[in-house]
Amino acid sequence: MTSPVWHPFTQHALEPAMKRIVHTDGACLVDEDGARILDAISSWWVTTHGHRHPVIVSAIQAACENYDQIIFAEYTHEPAEELARGLVKIAPAGLDHVFYSDSGSTCVEVALKMALGFFHNSGAPRRRVCVMEHGYHGDTIGTMSAGERGVFNAAYEPLLFGVDRLPFPDPGHEQDTLDAFERFCATGQVAALLIEPLILGAGGMRTYPASVLSELKRIAERHGTLMIIDEVMTGWGRTGSVFACEQAGVTPDILCTSKGLTGGALPLAATLCTAEIFDAHLSTDRRRTFFHSSSYTANPIACAAGVANLTVWENEPVGERIRALQGLQQEGLSRFTSDPRFGNARQIGTITALDLIVPASGYLSDVGPKLRAFFRERKLLIRPLGNVIYLMPPYCVTAAELGRAYDAIDEAAAYFAAGRL
Ligand SMILES: *Cc1c(COP(=O)(O)O)cnc(C)c1O
Repeated sequence: MTSPVWHPFTQHALEPAMKRIVHTDGACLVDEDGARILDAISSWWVTTHGHRHPVIVSAIQAACENYDQIIFAEYTHEPAEELARGLVKIAPAGLDHVFYSDSGSTCVEVALKMALGFFHNSGAPRRRVCVMEHGYHGDTIGTMSAGERGVFNAAYEPLLFGVDRLPFPDPGHEQDTLDAFERFCATGQVAALLIEPLILGAGGMRTYPASVLSELKRIAERHGTLMIIDEVMTGWGRTGSVFACEQAGVTPDILCTSKGLTGGALPLAATLCTAEIFDAHLSTDRRRTFFHSSSYTANPIACAAGVANLTVWENEPVGERIRALQGLQQEGLSRFTSDPRFGNARQIGTITALDLIVPASGYLSDVGPKLRAFFRERKLLIRPLGNVIYLMPPYCVTAAELGRAYDAIDEAAAYFAAGRL
């Protein structure tokens, strides 16, 4: 029987029947046949500590004793209050307000609306948003507008708004990025720079130096342009620090976080902003209200999972686990750094990536799905972005599990070279 389910980023005409996952455990998914599949991409980058971390599971169970969804206007609740206090404490200093939503895309939409609202309410509206080439910020119309254009959004092009795009700071071309930003800012029309810090995820795990981010912040400040940092993927330790922008010594005006906010257990997102942005919306004039909400804003159970995530960060040696994983990743990647079958082996924190050298690269090249199938047969969840193979495992992954992933990457390259993939 065919299923009525329409899966995301899935070409059903090409995809084999899907196995059901019946259980999750640590760094693994267990399927209906009892096979343990190593979740080497943290279930699309959300799972940080590991699946079903006991502290987070208990917090969810306990929250269900008291709450389900509660309207988040007129009333508040302790899980949202406690999480907001914790977020303000753990985020870079100066981000004093927390606006909740429920996905990475929506927290970026909220950020864009905050930035435009800030200038609108200040009586000097600005109409442009600046972004970086190869960026990804989500799949809603607004976030697609800000993201890289291509096959993913070609059909929706008529609805997408124009943005100013900075060239990616490839090694040796960092100054071009900064100069382009300076030129855009000089128009006086750029409300905000929206950017992924240190690594562009869906755009191919492209890394750039922290110094570029700090220089961009300096330019933004000089022109009164706000900086929105999209930490949806990078947040919660992925790049080695809690938030990646810390490594650049940058406090953005607006910070977006989602994926790892609940340890990856439940959907929740938060947009943090400065008092300046909050205050621009503070008025006895109702027209200055921040007009945004989704039905499930600040779901108490999700917020309780977020509080539990903060507890794990506070009470468990998460930093040590991340450093250990960084070491394991470095060791695993090292055998490929001068391997001619691969290019650009790179690492930032707990994330590694390398490009399989292929005649035709790009997301739609056949090699992506073929690699995916190859890994699936070996009980590894690894989803290359075209020819870019990356590993972003949960922090509880063991050396043996990770070793299996690197062995499979090696084997996949051998199969590819032999024309057997
Ligand atoms: C995943 C991601 C998003 C979108 O998050 P969703 O929860 O899938 O909407 C936004 N920005 C970045 C950097 C991401 O990696």
